[in-house]
Amino acid sequence: MGAGVLVPTMGALHAGHESLIARARAVADERRSPVVVTVFVNPTQFNESADFERYPRTLDADTAIAERGGADAVYAPDVREVYPDGPAEWAGELPRVATAPGLEDRHRPGHFAGVCQVVSRLFELAAPQAAVFGEKDWQQLQVVRAMAGAQHRVEVLSAPTVRDKDGLALSSRNRFLSDEERAEALAIPRALGALSPADNAPVLERMLRRGLLGAAIEVEYAVVRDAETLEAPRRGRPRRALVAARVGMVRLIDNQDVGVWEEPTDQAGA
Ligand code: AMP
Repeated sequence: MGAGVLVPTMGALHAGHESLIARARAVADERRSPVVVTVFVNPTQFNESADFERYPRTLDADTAIAERGGADAVYAPDVREVYPDGPAEWAGELPRVATAPGLEDRHRPGHFAGVCQVVSRLFELAAPQAAVFGEKDWQQLQVVRAMAGAQHRVEVLSAPTVRDKDGLALSSRNRFLSDEERAEALAIPRALGALSPADNAPVLERMLRRGLLGAAIEVEYAVVRDAETLEAPRRGRPRRALVAARVGMVRLIDNQDVGVWEEPTDQAGA
């Protein structure tokens, strides 16, 4: 049995991370266990070396934010500690759930192997009872939950996406957006926020794409899927709308709950 509640991050902490830490704190208080925030920019989950190189590293500020959020410790290992034999390809097995629906898995090949590798390793090193992940990275949350269930005795908890006042989901990469790019990026939360749970998936996808049309962004996907498997939505199950787009040199992802797909009652017997 492990101890403590873990909040894995890559640093450059913002209010989104702070909310995960606060959630971890609340859970840890009930269990009288510590909260540990990990800060590790994991080389094996990056697809582009330029993205890895320029990823912001701000450990002093991160430590202050972690403390403010209620963490008991910040664990910022170096690469040798996490990967004593070097950051080689992961030898583990990906879970079946949510790893091949053609979303992040398609646009960032190898990304989830890197995520599962580092999360497994951090679970080994810190031996937590539970770990908190953000809904902002929705597919990652489903993959990690499936992996933790199958391969570790670690409970995966989640916390909602924290947004800036203008609606943009907080992300460590937002700092690379120019003012003009940021204005274009706002099409993403606007299009997601306009969706109604009363509509069926094809209607939602049309509305979503229409909402993104005209913005100076390159949409990689804009879809409505089963919230857990991320395959096609199924009747009676929760659905999620998910978007990935490039804005200038920044890749942004966001998602939104769009309710359960219910049988339309007004068409019964039609
Ligand atoms: P990262 O440091 O970006 O790898 O993210 C570490 C954790 O913070 C992940 O579980 C993310 O889903 C979560 N996270 C990132 N941005 C946000 C946000 N805006 N709101 C809530 N959680 C977030």
